[in-house]
Amino acid sequence: MKIKTNSGGQECPPHMCSSVILSHMSHKTFYLETFGCQMNVHDSEKVIGTLVHEGYRQVETVDEADLILYNTCSIRDKAEQKVFHRLADYKKLQAKGKKFGVLGCVAQQEGEKIFERAPHVSLVCGSASYRNLPQMLVQLEGAQVEGGRLRNASLDAPADLFADLSALDSIDSHPSKIAKGGAASLVKTRDSGLAARDSLVRITGLDDRETDECFETEFTARTNPHRGYITIIEGCDKFCAYCVVPFTRGKERSRTSESVLAEACQMADLGYTEIQLLGQNVNSYKDPATDRAGKSRAGKTFAELLAAIGEIRGIQRVRFTTSHPRDFGRDIVDAIDAVPTLCNHVHLPVQSGSTRMLDAMQRLYTRDQYLERISWIKAAKRDISITSDVIVGFPGETEADFAETLDLLDEVGYDSVFSFKYSPRPNTPSLQLEDAIPEEEKARRLEALMARQREIQIIRNKNYIGTIHEVMVEGYNEPRSQWIGRTAQNKTLNFTAAAVQAMAAPQPGSYVSVIVTSSFPNSLVGELVV
Ligand code: SF4
Repeated sequence: MKIKTNSGGQECPPHMCSSVILSHMSHKTFYLETFGCQMNVHDSEKVIGTLVHEGYRQVETVDEADLILYNTCSIRDKAEQKVFHRLADYKKLQAKGKKFGVLGCVAQQEGEKIFERAPHVSLVCGSASYRNLPQMLVQLEGAQVEGGRLRNASLDAPADLFADLSALDSIDSHPSKIAKGGAASLVKTRDSGLAARDSLVRITGLDDRETDECFETEFTARTNPHRGYITIIEGCDKFCAYCVVPFTRGKERSRTSESVLAEACQMADLGYTEIQLLGQNVNSYKDPATDRAGKSRAGKTFAELLAAIGEIRGIQRVRFTTSHPRDFGRDIVDAIDAVPTLCNHVHLPVQSGSTRMLDAMQRLYTRDQYLERISWIKAAKRDISITSDVIVGFPGETEADFAETLDLLDEVGYDSVFSFKYSPRPNTPSLQLEDAIPEEEKARRLEALMARQREIQIIRNKNYIGTIHEVMVEGYNEPRSQWIGRTAQNKTLNFTAAAVQAMAAPQPGSYVSVIVTSSFPNSLVGELVV
């Protein structure tokens, strides 16, 4: 079983829940492709687990599938276009009775407009509505269209579910009876007369900033047997000027620390040794803890939750992403210093080195405040690696603003930076600003930034030569005859093992010590220490 992503997938762990194994017997099949970030990859793990629990079997190709799903990303225009190209490429398969669904950020952003652009799509569901997926699947299986009228064709569906739907004839939408607390609805399209029968089934789950609920499931189909994700907070309340996330993933809602810790303990019992806590802004985590009488009580802070997970027996590494500088507290650094299993790596997106641009981006901190957080991290007892995100060419960015960003790279000395050219996204506040910086100029700034950062990484990585690090073994690179390892600081450390004849070869998921012998801008090279 695999999660198909742009970067490929990995085999499922052998210890997945029994429903996954039973699903190999199932006749109902689905194919799921994931675009975008780790949050999306982990959402897909939960969606896959949910579908398998509902009796579906995951298949490797579109051809084998009854239901074809795309878990989409709308952070950049390119990712969004890719999804519509995929849908167009496979449109012809609708004639074979296949159904199509669009999940994730593009689903939430475009909503029912997707049905107009890709009429063969039957299901549109944003991430804030995934908890309603089982009901939506029942609708999808049960609803068919006859003579332009929706009717219940499912023997399994609750009898009253489609009673109201069968009366639909000319209205555009109808709230589903089973979508209590959510926005799942079944709608009849305007082009119904031209479409094939099943294409008229229109199921939407478009909870936006209304829902207070998280998508929690015990059926997560994790794709890596050693490292697992746990979402601790969904949505975002920050509204950075360029970002679609607050509109596509809804408002901030944290899981209880109790539920997060229970999931982490369960993973440790299953043999996972590394846990990565996920959220758009993990630093604004607020434990919605209640006492036995249901009254709210002081819950764990993010730093306390982090430390508690690091202390679970069997867990050797804990990572977290993403942080927001405004909410990043000193207590997180203290926790990293105090609990050795917390990885000494912080990803702290800065976006710009100019306070003027940070203000325009609505980032809620200044350059000085950002650098204050960096000073806390650098003052730690452990050597904490620092990585970041930068946007170049945001509306109004002058040469002087950009120079401040380049200067910030030097001042911080990042271990790596993800850099992007600004592109306007639907619904975001920055759409009101004129996107006046020409593409070529954005490209020039991006190139200059990447070149400067590359120089910094060359110097930084050279400093590791001669030092010994524990790595988690991630695999073996056959052509290079090297094992692939990852350090706690999140650096790739590829290594050879001359002594391997005398001992067992390193296994994926195991931890070994490696001495660094040489370095590249983006990776280190070393030799196994016996
Ligand atoms: S903090 Fe800003 S950039 Fe990050 S998800 Fe929220 S709005 Fe987007």
